[in-house]
Amino acid sequence: MARTANLAPASPTPRLQVRRLIAGFSAVFGLACLVIVGALFNIAGTLDQQERQRSAVQANQALEQRLLASRQFLSAYAVWDAAYEHLAGQTDWKWAYEEKNVGESLYSASGYEGVFVVNDTHTTYGLFKGQPTQAAASTYIEDALQPIIDQARAAAIPREQVSRFVLFNGWPAVLSAAAVRPDREVTENEVSQAPVMLFVDQLTEDKLARLGTGVGLSGLHVEKDDVGEHEHLHIDLGNTGFHLSWNNPLPGHQLLQAVLPPLAGALLILGLVMLYLFRHALRSSRAIDLTLARLQQSNQALEASEQRFRAVAESASDWIWETDRQQRLSYLSQRFTKVTGYPVSDWLGQPLNQLLACDTTPLSPWLDALAMADPQQLANLRCTYRDQNGQNRYCRISARAIWYDDKPIGYRGTASDITDEVDAHARIQHLSLHDPLTGLANRNKLARHLEQALLRGSDSPPMTLLLLDLDDFKPINDTLGHTAGDAVLLEVATRLRDSTRDGDLVARLGGDEFILVLSGMDNRSEIDSFCARLIALLQQPIMFDSQPLHVGASIGVAQTRTQGFDAGELIRCADIALYQAKADGKNTWRYFAAEMNQQIQYRRQLENDMRRALRNQEFVLHYQPRYRLSDLRIVAVEALLRWQHPQEGLLGPDTFIPLAEHSDIIVALGRWVLREACYTAQDWPADVLVSVNLSPAQFLRSDVVADVREILLDTGFPAQRLELEITENVMLNDIEGALGTMLALKELGVRLNMDDFGTGYSSLGYLRTYPFDSIKIDKRFIGGLGSGGSSDRAVVQAIISLGKALGLTVTAEGVESEQQLEMLETDLCHEVQGYYLSRPLDSVGLDALWHQASERSAPYL
Ligand code: C2E
Ligand code: CA
Ligand code: CA
Repeated sequence: MARTANLAPASPTPRLQVRRLIAGFSAVFGLACLVIVGALFNIAGTLDQQERQRSAVQANQALEQRLLASRQFLSAYAVWDAAYEHLAGQTDWKWAYEEKNVGESLYSASGYEGVFVVNDTHTTYGLFKGQPTQAAASTYIEDALQPIIDQARAAAIPREQVSRFVLFNGWPAVLSAAAVRPDREVTENEVSQAPVMLFVDQLTEDKLARLGTGVGLSGLHVEKDDVGEHEHLHIDLGNTGFHLSWNNPLPGHQLLQAVLPPLAGALLILGLVMLYLFRHALRSSRAIDLTLARLQQSNQALEASEQRFRAVAESASDWIWETDRQQRLSYLSQRFTKVTGYPVSDWLGQPLNQLLACDTTPLSPWLDALAMADPQQLANLRCTYRDQNGQNRYCRISARAIWYDDKPIGYRGTASDITDEVDAHARIQHLSLHDPLTGLANRNKLARHLEQALLRGSDSPPMTLLLLDLDDFKPINDTLGHTAGDAVLLEVATRLRDSTRDGDLVARLGGDEFILVLSGMDNRSEIDSFCARLIALLQQPIMFDSQPLHVGASIGVAQTRTQGFDAGELIRCADIALYQAKADGKNTWRYFAAEMNQQIQYRRQLENDMRRALRNQEFVLHYQPRYRLSDLRIVAVEALLRWQHPQEGLLGPDTFIPLAEHSDIIVALGRWVLREACYTAQDWPADVLVSVNLSPAQFLRSDVVADVREILLDTGFPAQRLELEITENVMLNDIEGALGTMLALKELGVRLNMDDFGTGYSSLGYLRTYPFDSIKIDKRFIGGLGSGGSSDRAVVQAIISLGKALGLTVTAEGVESEQQLEMLETDLCHEVQGYYLSRPLDSVGLDALWHQASERSAPYL
């Protein structure tokens, strides 16, 4: 059997795992986002930084260029012989301005807002925005001019110029200065007093814009030092209090602006998608968790049920088997080994029908039929098998098909070992059909044999019935004792058996009466010679204790040919013939003849008498108590019928009931008994049952259930206090019908007791199927207790344990001695009844018993 996997509770649940995964994933995702954004910013920063540096370099270069260009431009005017000639000393305005040597175009074409020629003390020539001005240069230029003049003069010798940033007219400008000098080698002295030409290139917005465009800078402008951010790129413009600034080129920023929104969008979407997936995963994992939890639960339940099953399987006395569809064993419970002795492994894989066999129904098709039938169908079959010791054993198997997907996939069932039960039953059966002393058939077997043989009526082969009674047997028994009697009976039995053929039956009816049923022999002379031979044979002395004993035999003959096909009638006829044979001098035989039939007439008379007796209320009930063995309290009282015959006195039931059973009188008689018993028992102690005997004939001839119901209703007697005693013979005639009747009786609430158990056709099946509450061991077995008949004791014990096994109360009837009572007590019989405890009492006697009991309060004995 497959063991279920145990889900280790320590391992994290899928949900937890998913959560961890999600957390890890989220962290990685976040980190990746951070890294991407960080890298992006880093790239952008680097880009911006590089671009700023580049732009600064460019701005510087542009400015330098401007300064250089301005100086070179100035140099063309300052280092010029003509200029020296016209501007040193007295300023020649005409040359300079009007002749446009240093004229208006310096502003309009070259963009110089200020053009001045200065010497140490004053301005000798000046143009402001191309127009001559008399105002001193210092009026426009907010800077000390002298140092500039000095530097310019100093630089004149190597033909250099100076330039610097100044405020011109309040606005930053590039001031270039150069001493005016002739274009030849000059001495220091010559230039020390030379006029200095100043070109002022104001850094106007236009010019800066052009300058910026030239080098790829936008927004090039000047602004005051105290305006704008300091980190902003700028170039200081000397001491002017202004600086040059331009728009920071920010490719990185642009990159960020271009990339960030879509990136953020993409990441957001990715994030949302992940969120959705996570939620989904979480939900799924929750579902998985739930499923797992359920799975675990059902696993536990499964394991529990398996343990339960194992506990049951191992404690049960039955073993459990399973086969596949081909009926090969696939499972056997532990019990199997204990019961059969075989190791389980010996049989796994083997076909079931190799282990078990049923003589009436082949096992394999029987199982196959289950697979065709209703899936719930459970069937039982009695099988035999050999255990490991080679012993033949019996088991009852119950089986049903195993279904999977509406298809049978195998079979499963239990097997209960019923060997002991079957053995006990077989023993009971044997004893019930055989005479314990001689082993010959007894009355029961005879009845069965005759019934079977006569069943076919006129079709059956002719049969001859010999009723044989020993002559002079009683004196042997009386004078030499039972042992001698038994020895004689045994020898007679042997001789009878030896002289008959296979199909014949030899039975002992009890005492010294035997019956021989001869089949296929109806020829008178044949029968005559057989009888003569038999009598001669039995007259041979029988040795006992080296002493010859002599008996003889008389025989009554009845034949199916002439006496019909009724077993009872045949025996009765043979009995009449026997009587005649004895009357005619013994050691002879007589055939039945009609004139011997006075007895028959007597019986007819009796029938009529009974009808009259019923009308005249000649019947009475006597009552015999039944006791619980443990404390000898009265638990039930059995009603026994008597006939107060006007001429013949009190008659026992054996004298008239068999006859009544042959007609409808039994029905009326039975109803009377039932009604009388229920009526009388109302006055008894409330815990005492009343037992009423029912004849099988009543079952056949009337509706017993309706009768019982009507009488219970009429008398108001509680059903649970009524017990019906039924012999096994009830089931003989109509098994199914009898079962139905008994179930219906049980439904009324009455108790059912199987009477005379062990004498009839008792079958275990009956006991199991029929709803009996109790069984009564026949008094014949009890009578055998304590008389040296140990086999009776064994039977009694077997019946007691069988009854107990089936949950039935077991009563022993016919207890006549203390010794028997003790034995039954030892054997744990439940209840007892018999002359030793109380004979059947008339109603006066019973009343006295109650009275006595109530005085003593208990027990009732
Ligand atoms: P039974 O039902 O087996 O009744 C027990 C018989 O054994 C009774 O005989 C009883 O008197 C007798 N008995 C009781 N204790 C002892 C004992 O210790 N030793 C001996 N040897 N016998 C004992 P009874 O009253 O003659 O009845 C004989 C049978 O007649 C009954 O056998 C029963 O089958 C039948 N019977 C009696 N009353 C009725 C009845 O009302 N209706 C029917 N259908 N049958 C009845
Ligand atoms: Ca009885
Ligand atoms: Ca009985």
